[in-house]
Amino acid sequence: MRERTLGAALRAQVSARTALICGDTALSYADLDREADRVARHLSTGERVAYLGKESPHYYELLFGCSRSGAVLVPINWRLTAAEVGHVVEDSGATVVFADQSCAKAVPDLPVVWLEDFEVWKAHAPQGNPVASGPDDAVVQLYTSGTTGLPKGVVLGQHGFFEVCAALRDNGLDWLDWRSEDISLVGVPGFHIGGLWWAVQGLVAGITNVIMPAFTPGEAVRLVREHGVTITCVVPAMLRLMLDERRPLTQLRKIVYGGSPISEALLARCLDEVGCELAQIYGLTETGNTAVCLPPSEHVPGGARMQAAGRPYPGFAVEIRDREGNPLPVGEVGEVWLRSPATMLEYWNNPAATEESLVDGWLRTGDAGHVDEEGYVFLRDRIKDMIIVAGENVYPAEIEGVLAGHPAVADAAVIGVPDERWGEAVHAFVVTEEKVTARELMVFLQGKLASFKLPLRYEFVEAIPRNPSGKVLRRVLRDRFWRDRERQVN
Ligand code: ATP
Repeated sequence: MRERTLGAALRAQVSARTALICGDTALSYADLDREADRVARHLSTGERVAYLGKESPHYYELLFGCSRSGAVLVPINWRLTAAEVGHVVEDSGATVVFADQSCAKAVPDLPVVWLEDFEVWKAHAPQGNPVASGPDDAVVQLYTSGTTGLPKGVVLGQHGFFEVCAALRDNGLDWLDWRSEDISLVGVPGFHIGGLWWAVQGLVAGITNVIMPAFTPGEAVRLVREHGVTITCVVPAMLRLMLDERRPLTQLRKIVYGGSPISEALLARCLDEVGCELAQIYGLTETGNTAVCLPPSEHVPGGARMQAAGRPYPGFAVEIRDREGNPLPVGEVGEVWLRSPATMLEYWNNPAATEESLVDGWLRTGDAGHVDEEGYVFLRDRIKDMIIVAGENVYPAEIEGVLAGHPAVADAAVIGVPDERWGEAVHAFVVTEEKVTARELMVFLQGKLASFKLPLRYEFVEAIPRNPSGKVLRRVLRDRFWRDRERQVN
């Protein structure tokens, strides 16, 4: 299968086989193909169309309809406030928004097609003759979640969705190895590259995809068991919550995870309790999702590679560079630069940001890390999240990972707070499953971490604020400490 547009790849799969299951609705590949054509007749090349709603088959009808008309889908996080939705809609220049009634309060001042009336809208399709867009044309514009600033529109081309599979297949490395009997669970939302990429991989592979309108761990586990799900892609926070349901997940033959750091404790628990193949992926919205992977064969308990994010796919590349953009030697920590054939076309309407991020075909990720002699990438954290304690660099993810290994700790997050003596001090937020004192946690970390990395304070909280892709919202945690001060960004 060599199609390089979503529309053509769907056409190649047309059959009575179920493509999508969402609640009580099921769509075959033939249904999805037909509906995508009906949608395409409404849309025109280059037009931005926004989607503000929970996951539904309509989302995929629109996506493939965009591919067949040259329009560009702008999925919006349905948890955003009206002002935040307003920013995305205005920035994207969307001409219409497809919205579900539950988002009515956030719907911007724009022509709206309510998803509840989607069938009626399609039935009134003009008899247009849509122009199919090509592999290099834009098909989606995803907004970064804004964990590091105002959301930017990442414009992704069609062929990017095929690059990883092609690289794996052409090099005999196909750890994804889709099987025709596979059933995939899509729990990461489609307004996030992780969810969108995963759903598209399943659909172009022709397997059945169970879509969750919104993720809850209990429902995810129920769906795995009810539909006999064999393969899924999750962020670590979702994985932990699913395991906490304490119900067997042994139907799963493969779990792909990524999007945020994972602790060794969680990996070990997953291998022990589910016992299926694990694969880690690393990338950004800007690289069209994954550019680096740690395949199942490297998931050996206690193995040194378990702490790596993996190696780039054939045809993809990683370099570690200093602030000026000069390559650093093996083992030295610097900024991770990625080169991927799936890299975004641009940040929409933002040439300055595009120029800053895309340099000679490389993407500056803003992540800190190093590579070893064999090209394995070891991530530290986002550079902007780095804490400087008396001149020493401290990466929150490392401390969070060690804290997660304490049996009483359910979740943890670490930030830097202003400190008269050291400049910044490490402050830990901890969610506990059992009673534990700050002193006990300190003793647990001593010997596992250098003394300058040890949290000065522990704060016990009910939950850690995370975005829908499982990332800690450090800006929310930092707010009360830094309100009156300018934080030094590294
Ligand atoms: P913003 O740029 O506004 O923060 P975002 O949170 O949506 O937006 P994404 O593109 O979704 O950004 O996330 C990419 C980031 O996720 C990477 O730069 C990295 O920090 C983190 N990440 C992705 N995969 C992994 C992984 N396997 N391990 C650790 N971190 C990861």
